This record gives sequence, structure tokens and C-alpha cells, in this order.
Amino acid sequence: MAKKVAVVAIGGNSLIKDPQHQSVEDQYQAAKETCYHIADMIEAGWDVAIGHGNGPQVGFILRRSEIAAKVEGMHEVPLDVCGADSQGAIGYALQQNLQNEFRRRGIDKHAVTVVTQVLVDRNDKAFQNPTKPIGGFMDEAEAKRRAQELGWNVVEDAGRGWRRVVASPIPQDVVELEAVKTLLEAGMTVITVGGGGIPVIRDEEGNLVGTAAVIDKDYASSLLAREINADLFVISTAVEKVALNYGKPNEQWLDRMTLAEAKQYLAEGIHFAKGSMAPKIQAIIWFLEAGGKQALITNPENIGRALKGETGTWIVP
Ligand code: ADP
Ligand code: MG
Repeated sequence: MAKKVAVVAIGGNSLIKDPQHQSVEDQYQAAKETCYHIADMIEAGWDVAIGHGNGPQVGFILRRSEIAAKVEGMHEVPLDVCGADSQGAIGYALQQNLQNEFRRRGIDKHAVTVVTQVLVDRNDKAFQNPTKPIGGFMDEAEAKRRAQELGWNVVEDAGRGWRRVVASPIPQDVVELEAVKTLLEAGMTVITVGGGGIPVIRDEEGNLVGTAAVIDKDYASSLLAREINADLFVISTAVEKVALNYGKPNEQWLDRMTLAEAKQYLAEGIHFAKGSMAPKIQAIIWFLEAGGKQALITNPENIGRALKGETGTWIVP
């Protein structure tokens, strides 16, 4: 009998706990904790595909690239390649921690990272209005020069200087899907769609080409969950549960909501912050609308209890 498959999207807190702990070693230690909780899940019988964020890590790579270009005259790293670099490095930390944890527990399991491209539509509306800030601040002259020479979109960021902005298009297809499925069917734990995947488009001839954009990691993990017909979609983040009226005096923590309720609360626009909780709820709505049976939002340390029905916010059809 086929085992149950879960997609687990892990948030920024699984790699960076606070601004004082951002080094590579700190990120490794943070990853270790989350891997411990995911190993619990695997020990309990789940096959798992792990998606993860990469916003701060891509920021670090870009900053090194910008500094090196000024000081050493080194070439800069294009955004799609920063995504690939971050998938490799984060995947390495996750797969090594999982492998060590499997060995410690005597579980005969393997973990592997797939450098994953995610197809976006080159006519996606997002490309007409790029809004996602990327990389460091520049002065106006440099911003205008880069816009001219490299075709960057640049904006003034509330008096703090100029920044490059890129589009955040909707993910359409996981390019390495068949590889991911094959690995899951072989019982492996697969780290994929890191940072939402490396955004690629198809050119006129149908060839894949990297594009300077960023894909929301919760959207990409949702797409993966739909494409592999996952039995469960878990979004692991920094909160144990989702709240209505988050941060307000009438805040109300939820144990459960239906798809219809999730859509209604999202439409009300006051409960889930844009750019943080709202995309997670949207990602889960798409999963359930496509036939997904259950989704969970909780933090890493509560995944085990949540799977026993003791906590977390469950979203069901
Ligand atoms: P991640 O890196 O996991 O994607 P985000 O910061 O993007 O993390 O989103 C998770 C955060 O969303 C929570 O830590 C919390 O601060 C915030 N949040 C916004 N609205 C809500 C809500 N309604 N209920 C719970 N948390 C919320
Ligand atoms: Mg987020």
C-alpha cells in the first residue's frame, strides 16, 4: 500500500531564529531542530516533500555579490542563480540534518535535494508591475544607471534610498515534477521548490530560460502538493495557530476552519496580514479547491502534537 505523502513548507524561522543568529552555523542549528520534528513525522509513517523559504539567504548572496563586484571587480550573480545557490546550500543543511537524524533513530531512509525550477507565465500580469524589493539600497544615480544598462526596475523606498524590484508571478508548473515523484515513490525525503523554485519561463522556441523574479514559497509548495496529490499540506511557520483579528484586542485563535470559512475570512481582508499569513491561506485554499483533503498551519515544535489533533489550525474542505 502506498504510504501517505505530505508536503511540508517550512518558513524563515526554520533557518533564522532572530537577527542575532544568521550565520551559516546558526542556520544549520535552526534547521536541525525543524528536521528533528519532520523526522518524527516520517517515523510516524509519512513520506515528506519539504519546501522552504530563501528570502534572507538570497539577500546575503546578492550583498556578497554586490560588494565583491565593487571591491574585487568580480562578476555579479544573477537572481535566478542566487536562487539556485540558495537551494543548494539550504538543501545541504536540511538533507544532512535529516540523514543524521535518520541514522540516530535507526530509520532506513534517505534525504535528497532537487534543484528545482518552477515555470511561470511570461505574460503574467506581475511582470507589468514588479513590487518585490531585492538586493541592497542604491543612490539615485546608480539606480538609474542600472535601470538603463541592465533593464532593472527600480523604485525609491520611502526615503531610505533606491532599490531594485522584481515581479512575483504565480507558479504554473514544477519543472522537475517527475523526478520529485519518482524519488517520493522510492520512499525518499525530498527537498524541493526551495525559495518557491527558480523562476523560469519558456521562450518562443519552448526552451526554459531563467527569469529575474521571485515566487512565493507557500504558493509553490501548494502547487507541488496539488501536482503530487499530497494527502496533507503542512505550512510550518512562527505561530502555533492562525488567528482571526490577529494582533487586535478581539483576536481569536482558530483550531479549525472550512474552505468556505477560509475564503470568507481572507476576503474580509482584516484577519491575515498581506505578505505573511494571507499567502499561506491562499495557498491552502488552492490546495483544497483542487481536491486536497486537509491542511495544517502550525510551528515546527508543534507539528507532532498537531498531527495528533492536539493543536495547530486545521483547514478542511
Ligand atoms: P514564513 O517565513 O513562515 O513565511 P511569515 O512571517 O511570512 O513567515 O508569516 C508568518 C507570520 O504571519 C506569523 O509569524 C505571524 O506573525 C503573521 N500573521 C499575520 N497574520 C496572522 C494571523 N491572522 N494569524 C497568525 N499569524 C499571523
Ligand atoms: Mg512568508
